[in-house]
Amino acid sequence: KQRNGHEPEFLQAVEEVAETVIPYIIQNDIYYGKNILLRMVEPERVISFRVCWVDDKGEIQVNRGYRIQMNSAIGPYKGGLRFHPTVNMSILKFLAFEQVFKNSLTTLPMGGGKGGSDFDPKGKSDNEIMRFCHAFMSELFRHIGHNTDVPAGDIGVGAREIGFLFGMYKKISNGFTGVLTGKGMSWGGSLIRPEATGYGTVYFAQRMLETKGDSFKGKGVVVSGSGNVAQYAAEKVIQLGGKVLTLSDSSGYIYDEKGIDEEKLRYVMELKNEKRGRISEYLETYPHAKFIKGKTPWEVKCDIALPCATQNELNKDDANTLLNNGCICVSEGANMPSTKEAITMFHKAKILFAPGKASNAGGVATSGLEMTQNSLRFNWTREEVDLKLKDIMSNIHDACIEYGKDEDGYIDYVKGANIAGFVKVADAMLAQGIV
Ligand code: NDP
Repeated sequence: KQRNGHEPEFLQAVEEVAETVIPYIIQNDIYYGKNILLRMVEPERVISFRVCWVDDKGEIQVNRGYRIQMNSAIGPYKGGLRFHPTVNMSILKFLAFEQVFKNSLTTLPMGGGKGGSDFDPKGKSDNEIMRFCHAFMSELFRHIGHNTDVPAGDIGVGAREIGFLFGMYKKISNGFTGVLTGKGMSWGGSLIRPEATGYGTVYFAQRMLETKGDSFKGKGVVVSGSGNVAQYAAEKVIQLGGKVLTLSDSSGYIYDEKGIDEEKLRYVMELKNEKRGRISEYLETYPHAKFIKGKTPWEVKCDIALPCATQNELNKDDANTLLNNGCICVSEGANMPSTKEAITMFHKAKILFAPGKASNAGGVATSGLEMTQNSLRFNWTREEVDLKLKDIMSNIHDACIEYGKDEDGYIDYVKGANIAGFVKVADAMLAQGIV
């Protein structure tokens, strides 16, 4: 706390892990007294750099770029890049820390990292995005590599940005390698990678519901966000027979009582991905829907909630409203969207609750599959990748049960994910000595 007191999101993420992992360490001699968690919370390397670029008016702009290389005990650093004005050291360290546990849970050989910039892509032209991405990569390239550190997308970094970043990396390194994931299909990408985080979040929820003999069929589902994760979570919910009631962005949420079906979702995808519009524009085509400005969608009555926008978007009051409205399952698509108090309420009510590091691990898992395909110089089919994704989500679910089942039979997925993620990384760190 003394060292990181000015980093609230990082402390929040560490506290959540510490509360469940420290009792486990105390009970297990092989970990006790080795300061293993103390070592895990200190990033192996933190890189901060200047990014200068020229906007369309010819003015020079300056942003700050970062890469946090958190832990490489079980593989090269792996984790996304976020471009958003709120990006700072605390946010990236919390994301990098979560990533270490998440990547361990996937069972694939990936360490944890995260990076990005306080650059705001909103309202920028394609040319400005390209110039920024090229400038960002002209420094980042010296710190990454397909065996060292393999970044991917996150908020504000989608297929377009990965393309520009990859182009610059390839040019200055003079090599075509799998240094980034989320690439286009014709230049090294993997099928299902765009869908993977959203699909995985729903696959995980499906496994949780099965423990109660339940399913998505006929359920009312509230989804937040309308970006990559939200879009594909919604798509999978629709395919499984659920009714998607909401989507949102930072300006508010839309509520479609009749349900957002496949056709309406296609419209949202075009609106957000091609036209880069706002979610409120949904009403221009579907005027029966409502737009609730400046609010999050948790006040809408639902059976299942999928927070897929950003950290701390679901607080204690929201949790209370969801529970009073009869919500039985929350599966996090975003990273740390529920506050600590909200999670405590879900646990007290004994509903199904999956933390992002378990339920949204499908994205990075499929990135791991992209890395494997790049190394093999081979592409798996859509069905093959989807099957592997389903398998991985199912295995993560089972690992959570192994370490998270309480005496009364309730599955504490937070405890399960933290301990299962910890064990693999801790074992590797112990085997490698103090490095
Ligand atoms: P996108 O940039 O594609 O979409 C983000 C969505 O969240 C947008 O609808 C955005 O609205 C909204 N949002 C962002 N910041 C805020 C905010 N401060 N308040 C309210 N709404 C906000 O990002 P992704 O879908 O990729 O990421 C969403 C979440 O999922 C993040 O937490 C990310 O870390 C996590 N995640 C993503 C993975 C991936 O594979 N992409 C993998 C694992 C986790 P607006 O357009 O108005 O900003």
